[in-house]
Amino acid sequence: MKAIVFHKHGDSQVLEYSQLPDPEPGPGEVLVRLEAAALNGVDIWVRKGWPGLKLTFPHIPGADGAGEVTAVGDGVAGWTPGDQVVINSNLSCGQCEFCLDGYDNRCVDWDLLGETRRGTYAQYVVVPAANLYPLLEGFDKHTATAGGLVYHTAWHSLITRGNLRPGESVLVVGASGGVNTASIDIAKMSGATVFVVGSNHNKLQVAASLGADHLIDRSKDENWSKVIYQMTGKRGVDVVVDNVGTTFPSSLRAVRKGGRILTVGNTGGPKFEFDNRFMFAKHISLIGSTMGTHTEFAKVMQLIFSGRLKPVLDRTFPLSDARIAQERLEKGEQLGKITLAIA
Ligand code: ZN
Repeated sequence: MKAIVFHKHGDSQVLEYSQLPDPEPGPGEVLVRLEAAALNGVDIWVRKGWPGLKLTFPHIPGADGAGEVTAVGDGVAGWTPGDQVVINSNLSCGQCEFCLDGYDNRCVDWDLLGETRRGTYAQYVVVPAANLYPLLEGFDKHTATAGGLVYHTAWHSLITRGNLRPGESVLVVGASGGVNTASIDIAKMSGATVFVVGSNHNKLQVAASLGADHLIDRSKDENWSKVIYQMTGKRGVDVVVDNVGTTFPSSLRAVRKGGRILTVGNTGGPKFEFDNRFMFAKHISLIGSTMGTHTEFAKVMQLIFSGRLKPVLDRTFPLSDARIAQERLEKGEQLGKITLAIA
């Protein structure tokens, strides 16, 4: 099969369009012929590598994908060749205390497709049968896969962990990234009033297209926490979605007393300082999470299929141009999700 591989960690130049043997499904696994894959920030982290990450090279990146079942392994029930599917990239054991408690994204043996296991930048991928979800007949595979990891992650953070209620106010720090656009979409669908801080006009237009109520251009208003404070009558917002991390000092100012700050990532870097006095004096809850559960994946896909949630698509590149696609993502030029078309 054709696939994008890398033999060592590094910049985008390590990515090669290459030929590999087709994978075969083991017991409990399914072989999927991919037609669409979506890019995520994690693809770039994996390509660059980090201390402790041990890959079997050549590695294939990619968490999100959609396509058609072409073969099933021993013991697989419920799937047959020809079934149209979207992939849930969260791999869990199904047996540990967290999996049995319904929090399979806290699994003791948790892993992400494309992280240590070969992913979706390829014509074929093997995944556990439990990680497939049936595609609504005729539904666009690029839209489905674009909604995979990021909507799943945003749903778990905002709805399950953050307990977002209708009528609440939400500030999303960042306007055009995958999880941020998903957060805006989910917050609007949930009946929240949404504030968005973005780095420029074009990115804020993506937020506007999703129904964001208040847009703050930080190229014009650098002190956005003060702007939020003024816009909310010196109250602050109920919830801040902050996946930058280094912006926590501003988010701690922008949130109301007793409010919540939700985080699922750190695009600004993993380590930073903040003034703890804001944390306790304002009774703030800081709520972290990563990815989502099998149940939430089904919920999110049903909402995408019904049109209540609408993933924003940026550009689609052919599989062979995955390097160019990753460079676009790495520069932050995308307005919505970048996908790969796989023939
Ligand atoms: Zn488990």
